[in-house]
Amino acid sequence: MAQAARRNSTAEWQAQDLAHHLHPFTDQHALPGHGVRVIARAEGTYLFDSDGRRLLDAFAGLWCVNLGYGRKELAKVAYDQMIELPYYNTFFKTTTPPAAELSKILADITPKGLDRVFYGLSGSDANDTIARMARHYWNLMGKKTKKTIIGRHNGYHGSTMAAASMGGMTYMHAIADLPLPGFVHIQQPYWYGEGGDLSPAEFGRKAAKALEDKILELGPENCAAFVGEPIQGAGGVIIPPETYWPEIQRICKQYDLLVIADEVICGFGRTGYWFASEHFKIEPDFMTLAKGLTSGYLPLSAVMVGKRVADVIAGDKGGEFNHGYTYSGHPVSCAVAIENIRLLREEGLVTRVHNETGPYLAKRLQELKDHPLVGEVRTLGFIGAIELVKDKAKRQFFKPVGEVGTICRDHCFANGLVMRATRDTMLLSPPLLWTAAHVDEFMELTRKALDLTLTDVKKKGWL
Ligand SMILES: *Cc1c(COP(=O)(O)O)cnc(C)c1O
Repeated sequence: MAQAARRNSTAEWQAQDLAHHLHPFTDQHALPGHGVRVIARAEGTYLFDSDGRRLLDAFAGLWCVNLGYGRKELAKVAYDQMIELPYYNTFFKTTTPPAAELSKILADITPKGLDRVFYGLSGSDANDTIARMARHYWNLMGKKTKKTIIGRHNGYHGSTMAAASMGGMTYMHAIADLPLPGFVHIQQPYWYGEGGDLSPAEFGRKAAKALEDKILELGPENCAAFVGEPIQGAGGVIIPPETYWPEIQRICKQYDLLVIADEVICGFGRTGYWFASEHFKIEPDFMTLAKGLTSGYLPLSAVMVGKRVADVIAGDKGGEFNHGYTYSGHPVSCAVAIENIRLLREEGLVTRVHNETGPYLAKRLQELKDHPLVGEVRTLGFIGAIELVKDKAKRQFFKPVGEVGTICRDHCFANGLVMRATRDTMLLSPPLLWTAAHVDEFMELTRKALDLTLTDVKKKGWL
């Protein structure tokens, strides 16, 4: 079947897809006449479309393929596990060897105190689980008014009703009247875009203070938790000033809010640390994991639950936790996650990103600051952003925002490079296997795309 399907042509796939496939985050009506591009194959850090054209993937799929494509070790453990035990549930006082083993490994590699894990299949469902657990916890504690979860404008936590409500993207809220009651948002710590005349350190404290203001407005007795990505990913790789997280941590402690660190992107070496909470000194009560957990080879998410909450919901008064998914702790996904973590360790990729390749990427990206369009570059490890602006001195963006980013992204694609654009910010999140040579190749392609973008922008009279 798979062999026969491969004999189809690009045009046939595009026609089938256009007629029947509704795509996520897509204006279906505005798709071009030929429909979408077809990615057919991948190897290492290169994608190949259905016509055999090669693309350097600087985005690790969708922030997830940390080990790169074509890793036979991962395919092998999936195959073996499917033969051994392809599926069994974890509901009725039952487990499977991979689910048990992975739980111990995750408890070991995540920060101290996060010793229990609840499994799902996506970052979105993991965040839904956390929303329920946080409310359940406060109910069990007899503090039944502590319900509201505070997130940030432009935060991203997934697409289910609760996860999209935790997130703060207005264009997501616009679909189906979100946020749900009990979810509110405060300012994001985006110094480059919103910091004005403040120094990054001052702005970090100001953005954190917005949490205290919101808690006092709602009443601490009504606030359950604060949720944030250590670094906002989809929102534009927003790396908060160093002053931000310590202050958030202090405020949550003072007013007794649970801290939720959504590490779906940041986890598993992306920032040069196993988890970004280590770098920012976040002490989460919940940690959301997905994406890099399996390098995207199979769906799996994990909610790491801190001692404070676990002792209550799994304690003598906890009772039955009526929540779970058919595929919670799926044995094949768990087996792949175990192998993924083993390979990350064996190949020393997290340390390499921290000590060598991350700093090299940062250094080379700085060179782009001489380009007329580039206002700022920022990275931590292997997650980064390039801000395209109209006026560098004034930190002034193009209006309407978003068009220059789209032009640049299209030039990247046309020249064999995959980068994503949010607003006019180019985002990168390469596989952790990149060497200095990959960084050099990326720089060459990026410089070319930026030059072509500049030509277009001038032609349009925008600069
Ligand atoms: C992608 C993402 C999610 C959602 O994960 P899905 O697997 O797409 O449901 C949640 N949080 C963050 C920070 C993400 O980047």
